Amino acid sequence: MRLYDITVPLSAQTPTYPGDPPIEIHEWRSLAKGDTANVSLLHFGAHSATHVDAPAHFIEGAARVESLPLEVLIGEAQVVEVPFDCEVIDEAFVVSNVSPKTTRVLFKTRNSSFWRDKLKDFQTHFTHVESNAARKLVELGVKLVGVDYLSVEKFHSENHATHLALLSKEVVILEGLNLTDVSPGRYELICLPLKIADGSGDGAPARAVLREL
Ligand SMILES: [Zn+2]
Repeated sequence: MRLYDITVPLSAQTPTYPGDPPIEIHEWRSLAKGDTANVSLLHFGAHSATHVDAPAHFIEGAARVESLPLEVLIGEAQVVEVPFDCEVIDEAFVVSNVSPKTTRVLFKTRNSSFWRDKLKDFQTHFTHVESNAARKLVELGVKLVGVDYLSVEKFHSENHATHLALLSKEVVILEGLNLTDVSPGRYELICLPLKIADGSGDGAPARAVLREL
């Protein structure tokens, strides 16, 4: 069965959300420099490249990334294609496109082309999920929402209503996917965020894979 790697690489070339730390990967120890092994030093924010948001990202004292249930991170998912000219995923779109009994939904939008075209600068006009649509997803019983750019929410949203609608109901947000090579339909999602136990538990980079059913 075919596997699709839908993960965006962590690299200094990967754009980051404005205000977040840059991605820097250095040689800490190096065979070429006479050390006994190669060891890299990683420096980046928890919301770099493909990553999950835990409830603690926006809600003080809420569930942390290392406690997110594996039962939600792994399982059947629906990839929904969003028309290229659509910049807002609204409630009506969710009602007519997300199948009933969907537990995990990944929206494939024009944003995936930003990765394909290797656009190094952060793109502010990315397609996002409106808060009413987020509430509708919760109502439908969705437990994980995936998007193909660095935020599920409109750029410069002041109240973070989309994040709050999802995280307050313990819905996992998976951001920064690259769905370029994936056709709409049903797959098995395998998403394993790093088990980062220090810090504020707000999120972690993840390897995300889809497997044909
Ligand atoms: Zn987020």
